[in-house]
Amino acid sequence: MRVLALLDGTVVDPQTPLFRADDLGVMRGDGIFETILVVNREPRELGPHLDRLERSARLMQMRLPERTAWQRAVRAVIDAWPWDTAGQMALKLVCTRGIDGGDGTPNGFAMGMTIGADTIRKRAEGVTAVTLERGYATDLMERAPWLLLSAKTLSYAVNMAALREAEARGADEVIFTATDGTVLEGPTSNVVLARGRTLLTTPPSTGILKGTTQGALFRAAEQAGWETRVETFPREALFDSDGVWLASSVRTITQVRAIDGTELKADADLHAELTRLYESNY
Ligand code: PLP
Repeated sequence: MRVLALLDGTVVDPQTPLFRADDLGVMRGDGIFETILVVNREPRELGPHLDRLERSARLMQMRLPERTAWQRAVRAVIDAWPWDTAGQMALKLVCTRGIDGGDGTPNGFAMGMTIGADTIRKRAEGVTAVTLERGYATDLMERAPWLLLSAKTLSYAVNMAALREAEARGADEVIFTATDGTVLEGPTSNVVLARGRTLLTTPPSTGILKGTTQGALFRAAEQAGWETRVETFPREALFDSDGVWLASSVRTITQVRAIDGTELKADADLHAELTRLYESNY
């Protein structure tokens, strides 16, 4: 199922061609996006997603349609979605830099999409992962802003290639490591680990994406008396922990059962507790 809306709020046939062949988003992946979970008509973390879209546009030095246009398109997709048959959707906001050689007018849309049964099953059953090198140092973002670390750009070909590598190695997911062996993030997720009653995640200053789902989980966990820490940790810490999760909007909080062929604790009660905490936000 697909529901497509333009930024003026018009809902159009999802098969409508929207982009010219010379759009920079098509030619160079030169654009940005967000993926938002919508449950029973409520978009989760919409404010943080729109904040991050604006931040990505700033890092890319590209023009972005105003926030009210995105809000209007989100509302249009939600209003047109068949809620009787599908209680959740993944809502994508996409914006490109526009036409090659044009005046910089960005092109964007919002599209609601069915969430795959596989993703929903993994929320409950967990995943296996491999660690893969991402090839950059944790202090690179500050030194090299042109690399667009921490921006959510449309250039996800590397992220998707890493997932194919995971599949070739018989795993579902990837955890990227930096050149010094510290843990960064997944290709489409943040990494969270538990140590006793402390939750830990990697700082965005390492060039990873600041996760809205990780943020929501930590917010609820703090209110429930957990300690939360945002600091770098080595790959080895994944194996010493009381549990590892991948957090992202559509997968929500997915437990990692094994990494690089080594089984983790994968405590079902702890997974249920973290899922309850995350859900308590909504
Ligand atoms: N890191 C990367 C590279 C991502 O692509 C994503 C989301 O797709 C995340 C982290 C998690 O972000 P969020 O929880 O806001 O979906």
